[in-house]
Amino acid sequence: MSALQTTDPEIYQAVQDEQTRQRDGLELIASENYTSAAVLEAAGTVLTNKYAEGYPGRRYYGGCEYADVIEDLARDRVCKLFGAEHANVQPHSGSQANMAVYLTVLKPGDTYLAMDLAHGGHLTHGMHLNFSGQLYNPVHYGVRESDNLIDFDNVAALARKHKPKLIIAGASAYPREIDHPKFAEIAREVGALLMVDMAHYSGLVAGGVHNNPVEVADYVTSTSHKTLRGPRSGFILTKEANAKDIDRTIFPGIQGGPLVHIIAGKAVCFHEAAQPEFKTYAQQIVANAKVLAEVLLAGGISLASGGTDNHLMMADVTAIGLTGKIAEKSLDRAGITVNKNMIPFDKRKPLDPSGIRIGTAALTTRGMQEDDMKKVGSWILEVLKAPEDEAVIAKVRGEIQSFASDFPVPGI
Ligand code: PLP
Repeated sequence: MSALQTTDPEIYQAVQDEQTRQRDGLELIASENYTSAAVLEAAGTVLTNKYAEGYPGRRYYGGCEYADVIEDLARDRVCKLFGAEHANVQPHSGSQANMAVYLTVLKPGDTYLAMDLAHGGHLTHGMHLNFSGQLYNPVHYGVRESDNLIDFDNVAALARKHKPKLIIAGASAYPREIDHPKFAEIAREVGALLMVDMAHYSGLVAGGVHNNPVEVADYVTSTSHKTLRGPRSGFILTKEANAKDIDRTIFPGIQGGPLVHIIAGKAVCFHEAAQPEFKTYAQQIVANAKVLAEVLLAGGISLASGGTDNHLMMADVTAIGLTGKIAEKSLDRAGITVNKNMIPFDKRKPLDPSGIRIGTAALTTRGMQEDDMKKVGSWILEVLKAPEDEAVIAKVRGEIQSFASDFPVPGI
């Protein structure tokens, strides 16, 4: 019996059940992935016992010599991976990475320009209930109704009109490559700083599939657990000139002790992302997404912007008479996990929107390729065309369970 099983059988059982869920089903949530066994191992070490407030060489606690080794490795590796001058690897999450940049460059009430949540932006890009919407004055740009692509004329017009201190590029639900140099050009024209939140696609940047925002942005923030495939956490990249300010905002500004075990997991993830196999992985994520998009389109589902060139697609299921909520629920019952999501210009509400967001990063980690995506797409269509039919759902669930057993989940 494991220590967890002996001490706390209820938590042990829930973990076992979650492992089974992750193994037997198809994980298509665009913001999720499976970390490697090495990342899991690092994140589950005795490093969780250690306080290490401060930064390597300047800690407020004794006994930090190994914490220093780990944080230095994490910083060096991520700087090398993305070509950055300075990294802060202490943010506990993507939201805290974003908060740190805002607190560093903005004063309460200042105006910034970011992508509308309803068009694919993130909560921390100015949603009214989030700190980013409460402390500051966010102005939002969006996508064009005609093609669902970012409307750069609108971005430039809003930037000229509102003179924001900061422009934010990056999104949670945008299926196309983002033109960071174009954002930088607009920011330069109006004298704004540029922050790129590459949380969703940092793995595609690391793998050389998408253009690297570090080359043009003042600040780049990211999570480490989406396409980058690390532990659940965040980091910030910037120029050496901003290093002191951003570090001070993270600690002591908004955080206390860093999570040294998670920083170790991030260091391992940055090492893995620097290997040649990671390039192949990033290319395969996009190749898989393109095939899945083609299958869904051929099955009568409409996709925002007509397809994808990253790891995700935004499917409008109202075209086949469903809502996002019904689609999410019926797919879930069949062992396919996605999330309901607003699509641009959605006439429905966030809790029961018109769309679902579908991503290929996790299945690609399991080794699935284009032919497998054809099967996955057919199962999605089969369920969505009979969302109330228990026999269809049970049949698909059984087929998926047997199919999924050929693709191991790292660490399970
Ligand atoms: N930024 C973007 C674009 C995201 O999609 C997310 C998470 O989904 C975040 C920031 C926040 O990350 P976290 O959930 O780690 O706070």
